[in-house]
Amino acid sequence: MVKFKDPFEKLERENERKRAMRRPLVAGNWKMNKVLTAVLEFALDLKKRIADVSDVEVLICPPFPFLGPLSRSLEDSTVKVGAQDVYWEENGAFTGSVSAQMLDSVGCSYVIVGHSERRHIFGDSSEEVNKKTGAVLASYMIPIVCVGEKLEEREEMRTEEVLREQITHSLAGFNSQEALKCVIAYEPVWAIGTGKTATAHQANDAHGFIRELLRELFNGEVCDRMRILYGGSVKPENVAELMREPDIDGVLVGGASLTVDSFEKLIRYKEAVAPETQ
Ligand code: PEP
Repeated sequence: MVKFKDPFEKLERENERKRAMRRPLVAGNWKMNKVLTAVLEFALDLKKRIADVSDVEVLICPPFPFLGPLSRSLEDSTVKVGAQDVYWEENGAFTGSVSAQMLDSVGCSYVIVGHSERRHIFGDSSEEVNKKTGAVLASYMIPIVCVGEKLEEREEMRTEEVLREQITHSLAGFNSQEALKCVIAYEPVWAIGTGKTATAHQANDAHGFIRELLRELFNGEVCDRMRILYGGSVKPENVAELMREPDIDGVLVGGASLTVDSFEKLIRYKEAVAPETQ
């Protein structure tokens, strides 16, 4: 049995071991941006630039019309393609909607559900996010379930209450094996597209809370193994600091994923020197 002189060393080793089970994920959410030519140019350039990267999973979530062409153009790379939303029914008279089966058929492996723009602009409730998550799992893709508090909720010290409500409802009815197939993205609404980032410690505290909630709702395995991404004004300048936190397993990025230059820097976050170590 290994004897640790310092109890913190033991804790740190334990954290490292748990983290090693969670492969870092850098995901770009392009929202409603780009046209087809720009998408294809981006793909060509990116796959050349990151051909040597193997320790980070890379994902791009473009608008629906570009899913098929983007996945075809990334076929000879490890970059994955995901959708920004889904409807829970399989098919039928649901004008304007897209099903999980359709997304799977054009090469998606991930689907974002419950993004705050969906929740707050289009009124998606946690119950709907739950049905969308179920549809994504049923089509063997990975849901990225987004949660996060608004500014006034944080100021009223209600962050944990909001996260508990969103996660409990969004993952209701799933067993631990199904939960293990999900990714959670913590995205404080006040930090999305605003230039304001949660500090690395604020983000890690929220992730720690989410992890313990997963233990309570499911079990220790889900708590240790589920990947929790941070999103909200992540950029090349702050990614390394965020990724150094033990409970942050990746990032979901809007604005800074739109140019190849900055997306590449995010993917190569290990090569950047985080402020504290400079
Ligand atoms: C997002 O779209 O999920 C997001 C976090 O956007 P941004 O990085 O622009 O804040």
